Amino acid sequence: MIAVFLGPPGAGKGTQSAKLIRDLGFRKIATGDLLRAARQAGTELGDAARRYMDAGELVPDEVIVALVEETLGGFPADAPILFDGFPRTLPQARALDDALARTGRAVERVVVLDVPEQVVLRRIGGRRISPNGRVYNIHDDPPRVDGVCDETGEPLIHRKDDRPQTILRRLRVYEAQTEPIIAYYEEGAPPVARLDGMQGIEETYRSVRAALRRMPAGETEPRCNGTK
Ligand code: AMP
Repeated sequence: MIAVFLGPPGAGKGTQSAKLIRDLGFRKIATGDLLRAARQAGTELGDAARRYMDAGELVPDEVIVALVEETLGGFPADAPILFDGFPRTLPQARALDDALARTGRAVERVVVLDVPEQVVLRRIGGRRISPNGRVYNIHDDPPRVDGVCDETGEPLIHRKDDRPQTILRRLRVYEAQTEPIIAYYEEGAPPVARLDGMQGIEETYRSVRAALRRMPAGETEPRCNGTK
């Protein structure tokens, strides 16, 4: 199974994909995470990506495609893979199709998580991250002491690309460059499920699981029912 998760920043793709990895053994390719790891490691790629990321702009396609191809090459040929935050442009979507076709594979499911812009601004704008990885939200899940991690006592980080102006830029970039990919997939083979990302984490997860189980037209496995 190869699945692609689409949706604006803050839609909950990371939360949902972490659950799928835990429950279904997917491997994940999240280009945002790969880029942040490269930045932290101080690699050439990380340094090159920094200015795009901090401004809420997309890192050039050729850089991203090379990164994804390298990561894909390290996975077993039949591993179930979940793409989160990739593809983000039509050239990336086409490059992914080409790379998968070289090993006889293809994108089999596309899940789009939709959330309104105001919710994105609140979710991402309120996000503060502990150096140990724990994520807080100053509106919905604040630390006990303002600006300090409950677990480690360290100061919380407000990512540069989580500041309001940059979030707005990321949303505009999503609309202009990433949303057209939905139509691209709708014209192609994989079933595309558009889900409401406002249902709450567990309800959304049920919808995501159902969307992944749903078989393309013509296949014989029973359709799931009940959970949407
Ligand atoms: P994310 O954590 O997925 O929101 O990604 C954070 C930032 O990394 C984005 O705002 C982009 O600057 C960059 N980035 C991540 N994935 C891609 C991609 N597929 N194409 C271009 N830039 C990306």
